[in-house]
Amino acid sequence: MNQQGHMASYGQPQPGYQGYQQFGYNSQHSAGVPPSQYGPYNGPVQGYQQTALPQGSSRPPPASGAPLTSLPHSIAAQQPTYDQYGQGDIQNGPAMPGQMQRLPVSQSYMPGETLQSGSQPMPYQQYAPPLNNAQQLPNQMARMQISGVSTNSAPPPVSQGYGPPASHPQTTASLPPAGPATYTQYSTPLQSIPSSIAQHPYPGQAAPVSTFTSPPTSSLTGVNLPPPPGVQRPPTMHGPPLTGQSPTGLPPSQPLTGLYPAQPNHRSAGPQPGMPGVMPGPPPQGFQVHPTQPSQGFIPQQNGSFGQMRAPQPNYAAPYTGTPNYNNQPQQQQKRLDPDSIPSPIQVIEDDKSNRGSEPFSTGVRGQVPPLVTTDFMVKDQGNSSPRFIRCAAYNIPCTSDMAKQCQVPLTAVVKPLATLPADEAPPYIVDHGETGPIRCNRCKAYMCPYMQFIEGGRRFQCAFCSCVTEVLPHYFQHLDHTGKRMDYYDRPELSLGSYEFLATVDYCKNNKVPNPPAFIFMIDVSYNALKSGLVHLLCEELKTLLDYLPREGNAEESALRVGFVTYNKVLHFYNVKSSLAQPQMMVVSDIADMFVPLLDGFLVNVNESRTVINSLLEQIPEIFADTRETETVFGPVIQAGLEALKAAECAGKLFIFHSSLPLAEAPGKLKNRDDKKLINTDKEKVLFQPQTSFYNNLGKECVAQGCCVDLFLFPNQYVDVATLGLVTYQTGGSIYKYTYFQAQADGERFLNDLHRDVRKVIGFDSVMRVRTSTGIRATDFFGSFYMSNTTDVELAALDCDKTITVEFKHDDKLNEDNGAQIQCALLYTSCSGQRRLRIHNLSLNCCTQLADLYRNCETDTLINFFVKLAYRGVLSNPTKTVRDSLINQSAQILACYRKNCASPSSAGQLILPECMKLLPVYLNCVLKSDVLQPGADVSTDDRAYIRQLITSMDVAETNVFFYPRLLPVHKMDVDSDDFPVAIRCSEERLSKGGIYLLENGLNLFIWVGMNTQHDLIQSIFNVQSFGQIDSALGALPMLDNPYSKKLRSMVDMIRAQRPRFMKLLIVKQDDKMELLFKHFLMEDKSVSGGASYVDFLCHMHKEIRQLLS
Ligand SMILES: [Zn+2]
Repeated sequence: MNQQGHMASYGQPQPGYQGYQQFGYNSQHSAGVPPSQYGPYNGPVQGYQQTALPQGSSRPPPASGAPLTSLPHSIAAQQPTYDQYGQGDIQNGPAMPGQMQRLPVSQSYMPGETLQSGSQPMPYQQYAPPLNNAQQLPNQMARMQISGVSTNSAPPPVSQGYGPPASHPQTTASLPPAGPATYTQYSTPLQSIPSSIAQHPYPGQAAPVSTFTSPPTSSLTGVNLPPPPGVQRPPTMHGPPLTGQSPTGLPPSQPLTGLYPAQPNHRSAGPQPGMPGVMPGPPPQGFQVHPTQPSQGFIPQQNGSFGQMRAPQPNYAAPYTGTPNYNNQPQQQQKRLDPDSIPSPIQVIEDDKSNRGSEPFSTGVRGQVPPLVTTDFMVKDQGNSSPRFIRCAAYNIPCTSDMAKQCQVPLTAVVKPLATLPADEAPPYIVDHGETGPIRCNRCKAYMCPYMQFIEGGRRFQCAFCSCVTEVLPHYFQHLDHTGKRMDYYDRPELSLGSYEFLATVDYCKNNKVPNPPAFIFMIDVSYNALKSGLVHLLCEELKTLLDYLPREGNAEESALRVGFVTYNKVLHFYNVKSSLAQPQMMVVSDIADMFVPLLDGFLVNVNESRTVINSLLEQIPEIFADTRETETVFGPVIQAGLEALKAAECAGKLFIFHSSLPLAEAPGKLKNRDDKKLINTDKEKVLFQPQTSFYNNLGKECVAQGCCVDLFLFPNQYVDVATLGLVTYQTGGSIYKYTYFQAQADGERFLNDLHRDVRKVIGFDSVMRVRTSTGIRATDFFGSFYMSNTTDVELAALDCDKTITVEFKHDDKLNEDNGAQIQCALLYTSCSGQRRLRIHNLSLNCCTQLADLYRNCETDTLINFFVKLAYRGVLSNPTKTVRDSLINQSAQILACYRKNCASPSSAGQLILPECMKLLPVYLNCVLKSDVLQPGADVSTDDRAYIRQLITSMDVAETNVFFYPRLLPVHKMDVDSDDFPVAIRCSEERLSKGGIYLLENGLNLFIWVGMNTQHDLIQSIFNVQSFGQIDSALGALPMLDNPYSKKLRSMVDMIRAQRPRFMKLLIVKQDDKMELLFKHFLMEDKSVSGGASYVDFLCHMHKEIRQLLS
C-alpha cells in the first residue's frame, strides 16, 4: 500500500537521541491565539481556601524530598553471558550505540498542512436535489427490505483463528521456581567482591499501615445488565451459502462461550501455535553472585526469606495460614542473589503510604516531590497544580544543559488537564473576566497566575515566563500590601491557586462564533458477526437507558448534547428520529465512495424530545438485521459519515463506533489482511505498528479540524488491523476498546461498564493545549493521543478526564536557582454544553547546581511513564531491540552518573542506586519485557498495537500498575477492616500453595487459588467444598453471606472503581491451563518470551553501569 504517504505523515526520524534536534520552536509564537485584551472584572470568586502561599522564590525547607540514600549492592558479575542481552558488543558500548531514532512529535505533519484552511464545515447543500442513493422508507421500517444488502457474501461455516488455549503439560505438574533458580547451575568460581547493601529508611518511618480506602465509584456499580441476548438466534438456522465467502468475519460454527471461559481483557487467548510448554531460551549461564559477605546496614525488606515461610508482612491479619515451603529448594538459595535483598516495589509503596499518606499534600512549596501515585493522599492547592493534574520526573531541574546531558534524566511532565478529583477536593474554580477575556502577558500570552509579579504599586505586572512588563488595566487594578502582594490575592483563584478555569470569549472560538452544543453519534456495525455475538441486541437495549446519562453542565436538568444513529455493514443506514415522527425513518446510502449525509433535520436530536422515536428505533434495529448474512464491512466511510454530519450541524462531537471486522468491502479506507508475525524481531517489525494506508491519516486530520472525536469499540474474532483502524481514534483524542471473541453473555458486563463510563465521563471538545515555560527551558516533545500541525499546539478533537499528555522539556538557556522554572499548561476547550473555557495549570520547579539535588527530588513512576511512551513511539520507526537497548542505555547512564557524582566512594563492585530511583531497574525491566517490546508467541499483532495505543494516553498511576501489577494475598485480608492486605511482590516464589491471591494491572483481574487452600476458605468464597470443585469458568464470585465473600467482592468492586476500564474477573486454579496466562503478570520472574527476571536484570544493569564507569 501507500507506505510513502504514511512515512511522510510521521515525519522524518530525527537523527540523534541525545541531541533531540527539534525543528524551529519559537516560544513567543502564538499563532491562532487571539491577542489578549483586558476585560471587566466580574467580582471576586468566593469560597476557596485562604491559605498562605510561600513566596515562589524561596527555597523549600530541606525536608522536601527523600534523604540522600545510597543503596550499595554488591553484584559481582563474572563473565556474564546474559541470555537476553547476549549481544554484549552493543550493550556495553560507552555511548549510545544502536540509538533509537526519535520522532520529533507524535504526529509531525508537514508544516503548512494547517487544519484551518479548507477544512471548515461546508455549508450543507445536499438537501434540494433528490438523493439517488438514499431511499427514504418512512414508517415501514420493521418490515422493509433493505436495499443494497448483498446476500452473496454469507459467512462460511467454520471459524478460523481461534481454538482452545494450548495446554502446557510441563507446567502443570509442579511449580518450579522461575528464572532465579537457574542460577544454581553455576560452575565457575565466584569472584570475591565485597557485598554490602544499605538502604536508609525515610526519617520517622513508622510501621507501614495500608491506607487503601478509596470508595467505590457508585455511579459505575450496579449497572443493570439486560438479559443476555444473541442466544436466541443460532446461526446454523440460516445456513449461510458458501459462495462469495470473504476471509473476514468468519463466524464461529458454535458458541465460543464454552471454549473461552476465561478470556483475558487485553490478551487474546486464541491459538498459541508453537508455544512451548516450557520456557524457551537457554538459562543464563556463567553468572554468579557472591552472597557470602554479610550485608551491612541493610534493613530487611518485608516479605521474609525466599522459599521459606514468609516473614509476616505488616498489617497482616492472616486468618488463614498458607502452606509454607511452596518452593522446596531452600538449599539452593545461598548460591544466588537473594531476591529479598534487592529493592522491593512493595516496600517502597508501603513506606510512602505510611510516611506521606496521612498528611495533606500542600502545593505551596516550590519543587516539592508529591507522594507516590500508589499512596492515597489529599491535595491542597496553594499555588501550584495538584499532582493529579501535573506530575514531573524531576522536581529539581539542572541549571545547565550540560548537567542535564550528563545525568540523562529526562525533564518531563505528565499532564492530565481534566483529571477527576476525589470528592473532598474542589474542582478548579471558574473565573470570568468578562467580555474582554482573561488577563494575559502582552508578549508571550501567558495567562495570569500566581507567579506574575505586580510592581509599581500594582499598576504593572512582570511576566514570570518571559519577563515582559504589562500594564494592569483599570478594571483589574488592585493595591499591593506591604509584602508586594495584591490585596485581593486570596479572592482571586488566578492569583493564589495552581489550577483554575477562565471563561473564554468569542475571540477563543472557531470563526469567532460561539460553538453549538456538541453531538454524540452512535454508529453500529450490523454485519453477521455483530448480530451473532449478541452485540447489537445488547447495545441497543442498553442505549435506551444510557442516553439518560449524557454529560451535562453542572446542575443542568438535561444534557445539551444531541444524538444521532447510524448502522452499517457495507452500506450505511441513517435514521431520522425527529420527535414529530411516529416511527423512525431509515435512509440507506449505498454509494459509499463519496460519503454524504442524506438528512440533516431529524438526524441529530435532543434525547428527551425524541425519546419515543429513539426507543422505537433501538427496538427495531436488532430485528431488522436479525437475519443478515452480510459479513463484509466498511470503516472509512463510517467515520466520514459522522464527520460530515457534524460538519453539517456545525458542531464538535464524538463518534461511538462499534465495529467487528477488517473492512474488506470495496470502499475508501478498505484494508487487507497483512498480519505477519514473522516480522517480529526483524528490521521490518515496525511495519506491524504502522497504518497500512495513509487514508486514515488524512481522515484523522479532517476530524481534528472539525472537533470530531472517534471512540472505537472493537469486537474482533480475528485480525482487524488495530494499528490502522485505531489511527483516527489516536489522532482525535478518542478511546479504543477491544473485546476479542466477544460474546454478550460472557463479556457483556465488561463492555457495558466501559460504555457507560465512556459516555458519561467529563469531556472537553475541540481542544488545544499549549505549554508555556519560563526562560531557559521549553517544551520540545509531546506524547499522547492527539494531533500536532505545528510544534507547539497540541490539538485534540476531544480530551476526556482519563487522557494524559506527557511533555518533555529541554534547556535553551541557563536556569537560575533563585527564580526556579515555571510551567503553565493552558487547555482551551468546549464544554458539554457548548461553553468555551480555558483550564490553566501552573507548576513551579526548583533549579539546582548540584546533581545530588536532582537525584534527591525525582519520581521514578513518572520517569517510567515517559520512558514507556518514548519506547512505544520508537517502535514505529525502529526495531524493538534497538528500542530496548536504547532504554537500557539511557537508564544505565542515569544510574552511572549518580554513582560517579553523588555517591560516596566505594568498591567498584557495588551497585549504588539513588533512593528515589532504586526501583528504576525493576520497573524498567517490566517495560522491556512488555508485549509491545518483547512479545511472546501467544501475543497477537492486534494486541500489541492495542496496548501501544492505550499506553500512549495513560497517566502515571495507570502505567505504574500496568507494568508492575498489584498482587494481594486474599487469604490474609482482614475482614473487619476496610484496608486491603499489603501487596506482595510479583513473583511465583511469593505464592503459597495454601493461599488465594488477587492480581490486577488495570486491564486484567485474576484470582489465583492455590491447590492446598483450606476448605473452609474455599467454601466461604466459592461455595464449593474443595479445590477440585471450583469452576474456573465462573467469571464472577458467588454472592455469599459471609465476611470472606463480602470482603473479597468489595475488594474487587473497589479495585474496579479505581481503574478507568472495567476488568473482567478470571479465576485461575493452580496448575490449571490458564495459569500460564496468570504467570505472564508475575513481573519479577523470567518471562516465557525470554524477558529477564528482576534479579537477572539488576545484575545486567550493574554490568552496564560498570562499563560506563570504567
Ligand atoms: Zn510573558
